[in-house]
Amino acid sequence: MSTMASENQYDPKASEPKWQRFWDDEGVFRFNPDEPGEIYSVDTPPPTVSGKIHIGHCFSYSHQDFIVRFKRMRGFNVFYPFGTDDNGIPTERLIEREKKVRARDMGRQEFVELCQKTLAEELRPKYVADWKRIGMSCDWTIFYTTINEHCRRISQRSFIDLYRMGREYRKDAPTMWCPECQTGISQVECQDKELESSFNDIVFNVDGKDLTIATTRPELLPACVAIFYHPSDERYNRYEGKMAKVPLFNFEVPILADERADPEKGTGIVMCCTFGDQMDMEWQKARSLPIKVAIAGDGRMTEVSGKYAGLKVREARSQIIEDLKAAGLLTGQKSIRHVVNVHERCGTEIEFLKSKQWFIKYLDLKDEMLEWGRQLNWYPDHMRHRFEHWVAGLQWDWLISRQRYFGVPFPVWYCAKCDEVILAREEDLPVDPLTDKPPVDKCPKCGHNEFVPERDILDTWATSSLTPKLCTELYKDHPVFKRLYPMSLRPQAHDIITFWLFNTVVKSRMHDRMNPWKDVMISGHAQDPHGRKMSKSKGNVVDPYEVLKKYSADSLRFWAAGCKLGDDLPFSEKDLVTGEKFITKIWNASRFAFMHLSDYDGGEGKLEVADRWLFTKLSKIIEASTDAFERYEYSRTKAEIEKFFWQTYCDYYLEIVKERLYKPDLRGAESRKAAQYTIYNSLLTIVKMMAPIMPHITEELYQTHFKGRERTKSVHNTKWPEPFKKYADEEAEKAGDLLVEALAQVRKFKSDGKMSLVKELEGIAIAANVENTKLLKLVEQDLKGTGKIKAVEYRTAEGDGVKIDFGA
Ligand SMILES: [Zn+2]
Ligand SMILES: [Zn+2]
Repeated sequence: MSTMASENQYDPKASEPKWQRFWDDEGVFRFNPDEPGEIYSVDTPPPTVSGKIHIGHCFSYSHQDFIVRFKRMRGFNVFYPFGTDDNGIPTERLIEREKKVRARDMGRQEFVELCQKTLAEELRPKYVADWKRIGMSCDWTIFYTTINEHCRRISQRSFIDLYRMGREYRKDAPTMWCPECQTGISQVECQDKELESSFNDIVFNVDGKDLTIATTRPELLPACVAIFYHPSDERYNRYEGKMAKVPLFNFEVPILADERADPEKGTGIVMCCTFGDQMDMEWQKARSLPIKVAIAGDGRMTEVSGKYAGLKVREARSQIIEDLKAAGLLTGQKSIRHVVNVHERCGTEIEFLKSKQWFIKYLDLKDEMLEWGRQLNWYPDHMRHRFEHWVAGLQWDWLISRQRYFGVPFPVWYCAKCDEVILAREEDLPVDPLTDKPPVDKCPKCGHNEFVPERDILDTWATSSLTPKLCTELYKDHPVFKRLYPMSLRPQAHDIITFWLFNTVVKSRMHDRMNPWKDVMISGHAQDPHGRKMSKSKGNVVDPYEVLKKYSADSLRFWAAGCKLGDDLPFSEKDLVTGEKFITKIWNASRFAFMHLSDYDGGEGKLEVADRWLFTKLSKIIEASTDAFERYEYSRTKAEIEKFFWQTYCDYYLEIVKERLYKPDLRGAESRKAAQYTIYNSLLTIVKMMAPIMPHITEELYQTHFKGRERTKSVHNTKWPEPFKKYADEEAEKAGDLLVEALAQVRKFKSDGKMSLVKELEGIAIAANVENTKLLKLVEQDLKGTGKIKAVEYRTAEGDGVKIDFGA
């Protein structure tokens, strides 16, 4: 349609940016802190700055925007901020990729500066503009980035508060570690991934005899500290108290019985290696086994692995297997697919590494967590199970320190002598312990005067779990502050319930003993056209920039409105085409309507049955849609309006009133005015109800046709429609429905007979029961005028409905 752009055509490529600028310039979405009305506050997800928005963003952010625009029209004082999440591993990786550098090669200070500069000058402004481009109705002046001074201050204050509450501790212990990112990570960052591997039968030696042990991780042989079997396993009972010699490495380890050994797995006897997995760590603790670390933080083998030292884990694995083969110590090998833990950011297999890390203590709160989850209103309700499932599986306290460069620093120094923790003063926040001095001259515990700064940064989720504070505290010095928190709504996609939603609830409960919001709305995923997950590796990713180029933001949103909240939705080009058709149709219908409204004076005229029929039907849709929207079911509203507009309004009502509009001398001036009144008000209602879903075309129509009379500066600031109660008329509704039924038969008769629709018919006979005949007589004029029928006669029949005899 863009090729034929003209005055008579709507061109979304020109119009959409035009209205987005208008909304900005006119402050249409501006939150007014001084307005007394009820506040609807939204904890907008701050998207991770990634350079480009993806189709999943367009999908779930559209859903929340539908709700927000609806609430705004319902009269709420809407607080809808926007933030960007731009620190931590994802941002570091983005900058490394974009600038072709490696943080570790660059040095910390230089890399942090590069990150700040690239974000501020290149990535962030372009990124934010993309979010505007999909029609988000945020107040862009309520803006934060999770790395700015405001957010660093709040994040560090949160750390200090939780430390004082006794909710944080630092511990030197084995933790989950990503050798690629070279940092400790938390449980939520682990993902299950199925990988090809092999079970290797490896020969140990006990008293000169072979003992075969199966393992998937032969590279851990140098870290082996014991062998375990189940005490009831008669195959191995006789080894009690003996020592086994580890192949290739030739040192001895004890053979021990333990209930936790699984006789069904592999050969039923297992090696326990330092930090091999969680079981190994439990055994290490429970049996006071020695610690032999074979894998270093960079994912390479350590000195204890002898000639394999310096190799990467995978290289060491295959080298050791080769050497075992050569020595005749590998008696079997079976390919398996098994599930391993990988880091969700980089897909690297997770290792365990002993290191000093900070944790938030919360494993003791599992019962409370479940209760917190129950106190939220979940839309859809079943999403609560994901929260509960996560809580049930929680095994680790929250590891919040990261051995990275770009993020919020810990506001912490340590006494160089006694390791006492020295916290920053609140009034000094935000601080960077690497460049700022601690607030004391002497250690309060031992009096020593040298301090070591904490070099780690906070987990990015430790900051983004504070978003309700990050945005509302922008109004900290205003009286409205107290009314902003807890917030009304947290919208988000389901994949980060365990990351973001859960962590935000935890922080809010710890800090304020309340949930951060009342409602949570959870979107599903956008899928590829075949209903599969989109991924770069599958090559099935739909690029929203292409979609916007070919169609429009309105059509993209129209597609996104096509499924129930929480459901996954395959990308469907057909739906975008349907969206474009809707735009063209409502554009044309409005032009037609207003051709006949140039002399309209706003009066009601004398409403006829067809007008009352339309208002009664429309009122029912307003009621149902409002109710649906209140339950976050925007898809129902979209479907109802779409159907009403195409079928009831365009196919019938506009056709039925043509005679009244074109021939006022025949039907009377008051009848014409009533038609104008009905056209105007029903079209305005349709435009308003579609405004949350398709904000641009509806703004265009409002500004072009309605603003002169309505005055409100934007359709998005108008009031959501109320049902037209005073026109409710059941009899008119029935009569109108019969009229539609009769007209449909007339149309079918004409098209079957290859006649023009305006071809005049001499006469028809309608068979209907007494009641329906009475109703049809009320709309006989409309039937004749619309169907181009000279004469109508009636025959009494049984049953419901209408049957027309065209041979009469
Ligand atoms: Zn990683
Ligand atoms: Zn000290």
